[in-house]
Amino acid sequence: MQITGDMLIGGRAVRGPEKPLAAFNPATGEAIPAPAFGSGTAADVDAACQLAAAAFDAYRTLPLAVRAAFLERIADGIAALGDALTERAHAETGLPKARLEGERGRTVGQLKLFAQEVRQGLWLTPTLDAALPERKPLPRADLRLQKIALGPVAVFGASNFPLAFSVAGGDTAAALAAGCPVIVKAHGAHLGTSEMVGRVIQQAVQEMGLPEGVFSLIVGAGRTVGEALVAHPAIKAVGFTGSRAGGTALMRIAANRPEPIPVYAEMSSINPVFLLPEALAARGAAIAQGFVDSLVLGAGQFCTNPGLAIGIEGPALDQFAQAASRALGVKPAQTMLTAGIHAAYEEGARRLAETQGVSALAQGQPASGPNQAFAALFVTDAQTFLAQPALEDEVFGPASTLVRCKDEAELLAVAEHFAGQLTATIQMERADLPAAMRLVPILERKAGRLLVNGFPTGVEVAHAMVHGGPFPATSDSRATSVGTSAMERFLRPVCYQDFPAELLPQALADANPLDLWRRKNGELMRG
Ligand code: NAP
Repeated sequence: MQITGDMLIGGRAVRGPEKPLAAFNPATGEAIPAPAFGSGTAADVDAACQLAAAAFDAYRTLPLAVRAAFLERIADGIAALGDALTERAHAETGLPKARLEGERGRTVGQLKLFAQEVRQGLWLTPTLDAALPERKPLPRADLRLQKIALGPVAVFGASNFPLAFSVAGGDTAAALAAGCPVIVKAHGAHLGTSEMVGRVIQQAVQEMGLPEGVFSLIVGAGRTVGEALVAHPAIKAVGFTGSRAGGTALMRIAANRPEPIPVYAEMSSINPVFLLPEALAARGAAIAQGFVDSLVLGAGQFCTNPGLAIGIEGPALDQFAQAASRALGVKPAQTMLTAGIHAAYEEGARRLAETQGVSALAQGQPASGPNQAFAALFVTDAQTFLAQPALEDEVFGPASTLVRCKDEAELLAVAEHFAGQLTATIQMERADLPAAMRLVPILERKAGRLLVNGFPTGVEVAHAMVHGGPFPATSDSRATSVGTSAMERFLRPVCYQDFPAELLPQALADANPLDLWRRKNGELMRG
């Protein structure tokens, strides 16, 4: 597939008239040879939004089987791009090819899972309450509920998942599955990858005979096209993964519109790992190795990266610290996604090193070449951690801090102190159960996913997954951005009262022609 540097607005390829952006190879620090990518304007955003609004009713009312087939066609098209896609993504992100092949598989699998979900129709939540004309003192009307799509959705591709959380990633798949047209703002860190995937979606739209406004891809600066997109009246929801500053800026724009809209922003999390005493005594060295492996995965550029370990002082915690230092000391430096992310990492690691009461425990292999991140482990005590809110800030990259607590009360105080997190992990043995029982109710309030004896990196795309959490992990703790429940973000309920049969949506018809599981008069049944 030829990359042209164009935006994709509905069925057209459009050259952005504003300042051209170059694709960069972070491993060499050099621009990737032509083409450059023309930046769009507010007028381009408006064109894409108008097409999306025009496509909405036709797209959301497609037969479920057609919408599912559309998602599967996108999945097959991405798989068919083969090595060309992973090679381009490798050049633009510095991520290893094997990781990108895995990510491509996840992206394809995710689209297919959403296709199954669309066919099954549970997300429609069809609910029927029969009329009670004889009820005293007042009769009850015939009430029927289903969920419908919200409207066109703006998606901001994430820098750290160029496939699985970008143009055809989790947010796009969930929104398209829910029946929403999607306009993606391409992330500047993988422009060519974005165009390749965007062209696959554009082609699937054409081949399936869908309205062209179902999908558009816009290139340009966040401050111009990103802001214009979120402010556009046709847009009804936003999906975002990135910095806290970026996410909160979009939340403000969305809240200040004449019609405010939801922003589902996934922003910052340090994913604490609690090391309970019996677990440390039984297998401290193995936990240390697993912790360090999780910390350096993908150069630490995962939203679920374990940025904090918390344990109770004693010989077992000392041995953990020594084992983790040894494991980390041999880890090679890795290429980060962009020069900006690399600079922010170095600044964050420097800030940790200079914080009073924090000292360096270990450092990974020295870096040479552009945008290389070395791993780093710091140590502090609970009182220092509790006194300095900055120690809770995400340092995006392979850096983590070990917090030493005097006793269990201090460990629980540290847990209570946290702001919202995507994950919280407990390393425990059976003998740690009483302490774990005191910890879990606190962590339930703090995080979207609680793990026992695992490590937080690696997020399964499944029905029961929750990738979310209270602020600042995300802007809305009621939602997940990974897994099939992610569709919920882009749906809303509508109740049909006393509708004649001819006017009812198929999902709510008496004969249940879609053969759905439905809640009828309180009972769940297929009928
Ligand atoms: P970012 O700077 O927040 O950018 C993400 C996307 O949002 C980009 O397309 C960006 O456009 C756009 N954007 C940012 N601010 C905007 C604004 N005020 N108005 C409109 N659009 C805006 O995130 P990033 O480039 O991916 O990485 C920077 C930092 O984000 C990292 O160092 C890390 O701290 C954090 N991050 C966190 C996670 C996580 O999952 N926790 C993931 C990725 C990144 P432009 O680039 O064109 O401005």
